[in-house]
Amino acid sequence: MHIDHIGIAVKDLESAISVYEKLLNRPCTKKERVDSEMVETAFFETGESKVELLGATSPDSVIAKYIAKKGEGLHHVAFEVTDIHAELKRLRSEGFTVLNDEPKDGADNKLVAFIHPKDNNGVLVELCQGK
Ligand code: ZN
Repeated sequence: MHIDHIGIAVKDLESAISVYEKLLNRPCTKKERVDSEMVETAFFETGESKVELLGATSPDSVIAKYIAKKGEGLHHVAFEVTDIHAELKRLRSEGFTVLNDEPKDGADNKLVAFIHPKDNNGVLVELCQGK
Protein backbone atom coordinates (compact mmCIF):
# COMPACT_ATOMS: atom_id res chain seq x y z
CA MET A 1 0.00 0.00 0.00
CA HIS A 2 1.34 3.43 -0.80
CA ILE A 3 0.05 7.00 -0.68
CA ASP A 4 -1.58 7.56 -4.05
CA HIS A 5 -2.24 11.23 -3.45
CA ILE A 6 -2.84 13.98 -0.95
CA GLY A 7 -6.05 15.97 -1.46
CA ILE A 8 -5.99 19.71 -0.81
CA ALA A 9 -9.20 21.78 -0.65
CA VAL A 10 -8.86 25.14 -2.44
CA LYS A 11 -11.19 28.09 -2.96
CA ASP A 12 -10.09 28.98 -6.46
CA LEU A 13 -8.80 26.06 -8.51
CA GLU A 14 -7.19 28.13 -11.28
CA SER A 15 -5.19 30.30 -8.91
CA ALA A 16 -4.22 27.25 -6.81
CA ILE A 17 -2.98 25.51 -9.98
CA SER A 18 -0.63 28.41 -10.72
CA VAL A 19 0.62 28.41 -7.11
CA TYR A 20 1.34 24.66 -7.20
CA GLU A 21 2.93 24.90 -10.65
CA LYS A 22 5.41 27.34 -9.14
CA LEU A 23 5.79 25.45 -5.87
CA LEU A 24 6.43 22.09 -7.53
CA ASN A 25 8.08 23.53 -10.64
CA ARG A 26 6.03 21.32 -12.96
CA PRO A 27 2.78 21.60 -14.85
CA CYS A 28 -0.58 20.29 -13.74
CA THR A 29 -0.92 16.96 -15.56
CA LYS A 30 -4.66 16.44 -15.41
CA LYS A 31 -7.85 18.37 -14.72
CA GLU A 32 -11.11 16.57 -14.22
CA ARG A 33 -14.62 17.38 -13.04
CA VAL A 34 -16.24 14.83 -10.76
CA ASP A 35 -19.92 15.69 -10.98
CA SER A 36 -20.97 13.14 -8.34
CA GLU A 37 -18.82 15.08 -5.82
CA MET A 38 -19.45 18.55 -7.29
CA VAL A 39 -15.72 19.17 -7.52
CA GLU A 40 -13.13 19.94 -10.11
CA THR A 41 -9.76 18.31 -9.51
CA ALA A 42 -6.25 19.07 -10.71
CA PHE A 43 -3.41 16.58 -10.37
CA PHE A 44 0.33 17.06 -10.07
CA GLU A 45 2.74 14.15 -10.40
CA THR A 46 5.20 14.08 -7.50
CA GLY A 47 7.13 10.84 -7.80
CA GLU A 48 5.17 7.81 -6.61
CA SER A 49 2.39 10.00 -5.29
CA LYS A 50 0.31 12.89 -6.55
CA VAL A 51 -1.11 16.13 -5.25
CA GLU A 52 -4.84 16.55 -5.94
CA LEU A 53 -6.25 20.06 -5.73
CA LEU A 54 -10.00 20.09 -5.10
CA GLY A 55 -12.21 23.04 -5.95
CA ALA A 56 -15.99 23.09 -5.40
CA THR A 57 -18.25 23.46 -8.44
CA SER A 58 -21.32 24.14 -6.27
CA PRO A 59 -21.97 25.63 -2.81
CA ASP A 60 -23.48 22.24 -1.93
CA SER A 61 -20.20 20.43 -2.58
CA VAL A 62 -18.52 18.78 0.41
CA ILE A 63 -15.43 20.82 -0.50
CA ALA A 64 -17.34 24.12 -0.27
CA LYS A 65 -18.70 23.05 3.12
CA TYR A 66 -15.27 21.94 4.30
CA ILE A 67 -13.70 25.29 3.35
CA ALA A 68 -16.54 27.23 4.98
CA LYS A 69 -15.90 25.33 8.22
CA LYS A 70 -12.14 24.81 8.27
CA GLY A 71 -10.66 26.95 5.53
CA GLU A 72 -8.41 25.80 2.73
CA GLY A 73 -5.85 23.09 3.31
CA LEU A 74 -5.21 19.38 3.65
CA HIS A 75 -8.48 17.56 3.04
CA HIS A 76 -7.60 13.87 2.77
CA VAL A 77 -4.84 11.31 2.33
CA ALA A 78 -5.48 8.58 -0.25
CA PHE A 79 -3.98 5.13 -0.02
CA GLU A 80 -4.02 2.90 -3.07
CA VAL A 81 -5.23 -0.65 -2.47
CA THR A 82 -5.43 -3.62 -4.80
CA ASP A 83 -8.84 -4.89 -3.64
CA ILE A 84 -10.98 -2.07 -2.29
CA HIS A 85 -13.96 -4.31 -1.48
CA ALA A 86 -11.84 -6.65 0.65
CA GLU A 87 -10.11 -3.71 2.33
CA LEU A 88 -13.43 -2.03 3.22
CA LYS A 89 -14.71 -5.30 4.65
CA ARG A 90 -11.57 -5.64 6.74
CA LEU A 91 -11.78 -2.05 8.01
CA ARG A 92 -15.49 -2.36 8.87
CA SER A 93 -14.71 -5.49 10.90
CA GLU A 94 -12.00 -3.48 12.71
CA GLY A 95 -14.63 -0.90 13.66
CA PHE A 96 -13.80 1.88 11.20
CA THR A 97 -16.65 4.01 9.87
CA VAL A 98 -16.72 3.66 6.08
CA LEU A 99 -18.58 6.65 4.65
CA ASN A 100 -19.65 4.89 1.45
CA ASP A 101 -21.80 1.76 1.33
CA GLU A 102 -20.10 0.84 -1.92
CA PRO A 103 -16.95 2.21 -3.57
CA LYS A 104 -17.85 4.89 -6.11
CA ASP A 105 -16.29 6.41 -9.20
CA GLY A 106 -13.71 9.02 -8.24
CA ALA A 107 -11.24 11.18 -10.11
CA ASP A 108 -8.26 9.75 -11.99
CA ASN A 109 -10.20 6.66 -13.14
CA LYS A 110 -10.34 5.19 -9.66
CA LEU A 111 -12.87 3.48 -7.43
CA VAL A 112 -12.86 5.32 -4.12
CA ALA A 113 -14.29 5.14 -0.60
CA PHE A 114 -13.70 7.28 2.47
CA ILE A 115 -13.08 6.45 6.14
CA HIS A 116 -14.41 8.94 8.72
CA PRO A 117 -11.74 11.22 10.21
CA LYS A 118 -12.91 10.50 13.77
CA ASP A 119 -11.53 6.99 13.40
CA ASN A 120 -8.17 8.14 12.03
CA ASN A 121 -7.00 10.76 14.50
CA GLY A 122 -8.66 13.56 12.58
CA VAL A 123 -7.57 12.63 9.05
CA LEU A 124 -10.09 11.83 6.34
CA VAL A 125 -8.71 8.73 4.60
CA GLU A 126 -9.55 7.76 1.04
CA LEU A 127 -8.97 4.29 -0.27
CA CYS A 128 -8.62 4.08 -4.03
CA GLN A 129 -8.20 1.32 -6.54
CA GLY A 130 -7.32 1.74 -10.20
CA LYS A 131 -9.99 0.47 -12.59
ZN1 ZN B 1 -8.61 12.06 -3.49
